[in-house]
Amino acid sequence: MGSFRRKAFDRSAAGYTEIKIGGGGVDTTVTLLVFIFGVSWGSFLNVFIYRIPAGLSLVLPPSRCMHCGKHLQPRDLIPIISFVLLRGRCRYCQARISWYYPLVEAATGTLFTLVWLSYGYSWATPAGWVFAAVLVGAAATDLMHLVIPDEILAAGILAGVPFLLLDSFPGTLWGLLAGLAAGGFMLAIAVVSRGGMGGGDIKLAAFMGLFLGPRLVGLALFLAFLIGGMVSIALILSGKKGRKELIPFGPYLALGGILALFRGDHIINWYLGFWT
Ligand SMILES: [Zn+2]
Repeated sequence: MGSFRRKAFDRSAAGYTEIKIGGGGVDTTVTLLVFIFGVSWGSFLNVFIYRIPAGLSLVLPPSRCMHCGKHLQPRDLIPIISFVLLRGRCRYCQARISWYYPLVEAATGTLFTLVWLSYGYSWATPAGWVFAAVLVGAAATDLMHLVIPDEILAAGILAGVPFLLLDSFPGTLWGLLAGLAAGGFMLAIAVVSRGGMGGGDIKLAAFMGLFLGPRLVGLALFLAFLIGGMVSIALILSGKKGRKELIPFGPYLALGGILALFRGDHIINWYLGFWT
């Protein structure tokens, strides 16, 4: 796959991003390495997800069981595999380990692989990896702690902007505008709903705009509200959540962002097909 595929982060309104998953000539070994690379980042994200909201250092102390406090050995920390071998329990005290952790690792590995298969050898690939990692991290911290840490978004911007600029300079300018618009839209929703949206949701939407550009972030927000709304109604009707209870919105934003990244143009064209 030597040729530079169609600009992946094509943020111009006219662009039709063709994404072929599993498209021709992808080296299986490289793809497997990318998956392991993604899983490793997922593992690092877990440290972030667990420690940042708790105000703990990222480096010290070394990983320990949250229940019995025992220091974990390298064999307890192999992504996904340790969880499966230990059947989701601490080796020392048998306390249950949240299945969020292997899920984050598997999701990050899968998304990294999809980004690689979609964009191949282009600057869009590392940009897409940063985007996917931040979305997984934001969704997981929001689900577990009802917070989207600024650190995750800031790290994502610092790591991602150079790749975005290398991929497409005008695209990055469009992304900047899209980020402001998406953040502004969410801020307006937060004001109107009097706190129904958190500051984290506003910043996450702005981050997504920067990476996706105007068209795709518009779709991402639309999908987030559509899916989030349906799930919230189902949760309230089934009595699982109270009408006033806080339902984290970050996971829906992340889901909308992922769908827009991989299938955005297909969804937009399919939708427009109804009206033309
Ligand atoms: Zn333990």
